[in-house]
Amino acid sequence: MSQGIVENLINELMRLPGIGRKTAQRLCFFILSMPEEDARDIAKAIIELKEKARFCQVCFNIAEDDECEICRDKKRDSKKICVVEEPSNLAVIERTGYRGLYHVLLGALSPLDGITPERLKIGELIERVKDNNNNVEEVIIATNPNTKGEVTARYIGGILKPLGLRVTRIAYGLPIGGDIEFADEVTMAKAMEGRREL
Ligand SMILES: [Zn+2]
Repeated sequence: MSQGIVENLINELMRLPGIGRKTAQRLCFFILSMPEEDARDIAKAIIELKEKARFCQVCFNIAEDDECEICRDKKRDSKKICVVEEPSNLAVIERTGYRGLYHVLLGALSPLDGITPERLKIGELIERVKDNNNNVEEVIIATNPNTKGEVTARYIGGILKPLGLRVTRIAYGLPIGGDIEFADEVTMAKAMEGRREL
């Protein structure tokens, strides 16, 4: 019986990205040894997230309603869309003073891992850009400066450029192979200023 309970949690944890059986087992035994209160907090946080947060239907940032606060803010410059991999990338770009809109891909292309364009929010980005009501003039691609981020930037650039709008890629200064989530705001501001036509 208790074996079944342990096995059940291991199987559930293995649904998470990057969690194989070994890691799932370790997490399971760690949770088992935790104070019950701490384990409850984890479970509660997951349930609360699912009840109260969702992805913005426009840009796929985290939202508490159908649209995120940034998309709902009519003072933002809707002519610019900054494309990032994850919602967690927005904070550092916000700190640079950028006041355009965003589009979160929810990942980066990685064909070997089965992450094809259909798995990301690329189709939704193209629809947004093509929609004349949105008046998009520039798409700034701020995917991470690593191989997957570059492949993703080039793929998106190849589709968007023939549409006749400005497509730019943030400049380096960001550590190659890195993740923009960990960039400081000065470096990130320079990367935005120095963006180039893709
Ligand atoms: Zn949004």
